[in-house]
Amino acid sequence: MPDHAPQPVDRQLPTDEGRDLISLVRDIAQREIAPRAAEEEDAGRFPREVFTLLSETGLLGLPYDSEYGGGDQPYEVYLQVLEELAAARLTVGLGVSVHTLACHALADFGTKEQKVEHLPAMLGGGLLGAYCLSEPASGSDAASLRTKAVREDDGSWSLTGTKAWITHGGVADFCTVLARSGGEGPRGITAFLVPGDAEGLSAAAPEKKMGMKGSPTAQVHFDGVRVPDGRRLGEEGQGFAIALSALDSGRLGIAACAIGLAQAALDEAVAYATGRSQFGRPISDFQGLRFMLADMATQIEAGRALYLAAARLRDAGRRFSRQAAMAKLLCTDTAMKVTTDAVQVLGGYGYTADFPVERYMREAKVLQIVEGTNQIQRMVIARHLVGPESR
Ligand SMILES: Cc1cc2nc3c(=O)[nH]c(=O)nc-3n(C[C@H](O)[C@H](O)[C@H](O)COP(=O)(O)OP(=O)(O)OC[C@H]3O[C@@H](n4cnc5c(N)ncnc54)[C@H](O)[C@@H]3O)c2cc1C
Repeated sequence: MPDHAPQPVDRQLPTDEGRDLISLVRDIAQREIAPRAAEEEDAGRFPREVFTLLSETGLLGLPYDSEYGGGDQPYEVYLQVLEELAAARLTVGLGVSVHTLACHALADFGTKEQKVEHLPAMLGGGLLGAYCLSEPASGSDAASLRTKAVREDDGSWSLTGTKAWITHGGVADFCTVLARSGGEGPRGITAFLVPGDAEGLSAAAPEKKMGMKGSPTAQVHFDGVRVPDGRRLGEEGQGFAIALSALDSGRLGIAACAIGLAQAALDEAVAYATGRSQFGRPISDFQGLRFMLADMATQIEAGRALYLAAARLRDAGRRFSRQAAMAKLLCTDTAMKVTTDAVQVLGGYGYTADFPVERYMREAKVLQIVEGTNQIQRMVIARHLVGPESR
């Protein structure tokens, strides 16, 4: 291997346990995830068995309390694990991030009894989660959601409506669902934990997407789905605050996935540029490409530093929502830029499915859209700077 062949990222980790986790994840990624990524993405195959393996290995509950089967890991470690998974295959990294997001409402707002009953199976019992906030007519304006939660005479709830764009829609074992139990606006929303096989719950055919074809994204229909009050998470009307709290942490997951994807693209670009010759020299000799690679590497390091700074604030119990929005914005824009530049470095070959960079470029686009588009991240950041809009 030449000296300049891409090396594994030299990570700063706070503990030996964190270092061991990264080694374990790299091993799983190299053996079980990366080798099948291109073929399965092409075929639109969801690697459910990989998620079962990650669950059995303790990698589906890393940032949660070990009392309920979690891994007790700081976000600083959990996010770097996500980065490694996303570098191997975005469908897996993003899937773990969404699963973690789906566990947030119960882990942070559930009662002790609810956590004892449901959380161990979610964090390490092989179950896979979905987070159901978006709807066909309510995306960025999530507080306008219309799925109804009606209280029945026996005290249970009946959920009716359609959720849209649900990652793991149709394959999830449980869904964290935001529904309207009261009047208009954010205060009328309540969170529920709904089993994936509940009567009246069904999923449409997966969307035909530009990328991440192995990750099922589908509408989920609720047709009078009965949910006991014991599966209500938090107080009535607290659902939107719970959803936003989950998204603050989830955005850090998206940021880490974006940097993993960008790193994978840079590694491909470096390997190609040092192996390909034109004009009698490796193309990596040409300053035009050297500067491009240098910029790509610099943007990745900056993104990693920003998401880790936000994670360390979170781990210290400090406020981090402004930094999470900044990290999501910068890291996903970086992934888009770096993957596009990687295609350029590979020239015509970069535009073919013989190399993974065209897939990385298609995959990067979705990261600028999910969990709040990058316009919405700018709105969040601006509100922290100059307060809410005056209208
Ligand atoms: C592959 C995929 C997976 C997803 N997974 C999930 C999931 O698991 N769970 C879930 O709940 N949702 C999920 N989503 C939905 C995602 O969060 C939404 O697509 C996103 O929030 C944007 O909503 P929208 O698509 O309705 O766009 P819209 O809100 O209609 O926005 C359209 C455009 O208008 C812009 N815009 C809107 N409002 C403003 C404003 N005030 N100022 C400036 N610009 C604005 C947006 O930035 C965007 O460019 C997923 C989406 C995709 C594509």
